[in-house]
Amino acid sequence: MANNTQTTKSISLDDYGIKNAEVHYQLHPDRLHDIAIAKGQGVEASSGALAINTGEFTGRSPQDRFIVKDEITKDRVWWGNVNIAFDPDDFQKLYDKVTDYLSGKEIFVRDSYACADENYKLNIRVINEYAWSNQFAYNMFLRPSEKELENFIPEWTIVNAPGFMADPKVDKTRQHNFAILDFTRKIALIGGTGYTGEIKKGIFSALNFILPVFKNTLPMHCSANVGKNDDTAIFFGLSGTGKTTLSADPSRRLIGDDEHGWTKENTVFNFEGGCYAKVINLCEENEPDIFNAIKRGAILENVILDANGRVDFEDVSITQNTRVSYPLDHIDNTVVPSIGKNPKNIFFLTADAFGVLPPISKLTPSQAAYHFISGYTAKVAGTEAGVVEPVPNFSACFGAPFMPLHPAKYAEMLSDKIQETGVNVWLVNTGWTGGPYGVGTRMKLKYTRAMINAVLNGDLKDYTYEDYHIHSVFGVAQPRSCPGVPSEVLSPRTTWNDDEAYYKTAFKLTNAFRENFKKFESFASEEIRRGGPQRYAF
Ligand code: ATP
Ligand code: MN
Repeated sequence: MANNTQTTKSISLDDYGIKNAEVHYQLHPDRLHDIAIAKGQGVEASSGALAINTGEFTGRSPQDRFIVKDEITKDRVWWGNVNIAFDPDDFQKLYDKVTDYLSGKEIFVRDSYACADENYKLNIRVINEYAWSNQFAYNMFLRPSEKELENFIPEWTIVNAPGFMADPKVDKTRQHNFAILDFTRKIALIGGTGYTGEIKKGIFSALNFILPVFKNTLPMHCSANVGKNDDTAIFFGLSGTGKTTLSADPSRRLIGDDEHGWTKENTVFNFEGGCYAKVINLCEENEPDIFNAIKRGAILENVILDANGRVDFEDVSITQNTRVSYPLDHIDNTVVPSIGKNPKNIFFLTADAFGVLPPISKLTPSQAAYHFISGYTAKVAGTEAGVVEPVPNFSACFGAPFMPLHPAKYAEMLSDKIQETGVNVWLVNTGWTGGPYGVGTRMKLKYTRAMINAVLNGDLKDYTYEDYHIHSVFGVAQPRSCPGVPSEVLSPRTTWNDDEAYYKTAFKLTNAFRENFKKFESFASEEIRRGGPQRYAF
């Protein structure tokens, strides 16, 4: 249950360097909703949800995400284009400027925490310039009870100032926006962007460092749910591959839709207290749980409303990345607290816009390690007329932008878990069938759900070797039949009706896999390398 209690407690921000602020501490989300509307920062949609625009940024800005290079991080972080180093003194100067900027303003403060498992709980104080950002924090982080609030000691602090613009020359940022993690001061400093995803992914990135380094727990960019027999399923995947969509399954209880930890006791816990769903083309029939979660308390981002306040989910005139955030209790069927045990199946979701990967296939442990390190999905090129070529997108561990450590660290931990628990690993192509993007079509959600349910209900488990076909290019085991799915859909080559074009495209993709894997070859064991595709074009 979301905790809606208000508190009479008041706090001062002087110690943070924010002076003379009018502090609104722990406001009820209804109040934040009303304040956002009163300030002209949002409107109420017909469903009762608050609709806001995040401003200049409608997505994260990975090139502006920095980590302070200090005693804690310098020898542990995998520095480079993903984890960009920031100088501690420059951080202090920028922090002082941001808190100076926030001084004298109306400020919204919220105490919350991450990690549903008591043993891993991370207390967070969120300091926001805007009411709707604070409501986002209410939706997405876990909500302490009134009692917990009394003695709340924040460990991490998020300082979020969308209206503050950095001066790159002076402040040592790339441009005017930034998201910087400081592990010594335990601060996530976010400025120049109102995109809410930076808030949640800031803490995710911090946990992706803290949990493996100090708590022997594997952090994962995945969704998770549990079945009637308490069997946990985990869905890894990059943005847009279906984590949120496929984990919302009325027949299974939801643990969470994006960020989880896998403990040494083999439990799986959610980091968050809410969901953050894409709403592009959302329709009630295909995604009833998400559709019905969009009610009072939910925050819609960057959507277009008609005169009656109804959302046009097809309208992408602001961005393709239209979103809604809501607390977990907007979903009927959830696990409380968000902890599962007994992981039985892992799905790697990939939206293969080349249309060559089978819609579902089973992976050996070495293939699982290979595909986890590769983290493949595809981007479809811009919508300009005539441009139909998909672009492969590899992101290690299905979430490189959020992983401060070397991918090998997470991959080793996952391989150990696979070994130890005997969990099955499946590769699911939620992308294209019948040809690449521009020729084929997106896999029907109905079929993807049927394949996943067949796995989860054990309908594929008794298959012998003969019932699977080993894919000649990718080497993965592709089932020949599956309840609720036409058999020809299971074989991508069959859906193409053009063998030559199919293999040509498949080799284009395996070559991209090989090219990408080069940077991991020096540490990947022979066994992991064997998990890669079997055939390439030379
Ligand atoms: P993020 O990490 O950005 O939150 P995500 O992995 O949670 O991304 P979703 O929000 O589930 O991704 O987005 C998947 C999108 O693809 C949804 O809009 C969904 O309706 C659409 N979709 C179409 N066909 C399928 C399919 N076969 N399987 C899954 N999703 C599909
Ligand atoms: Mn999601």
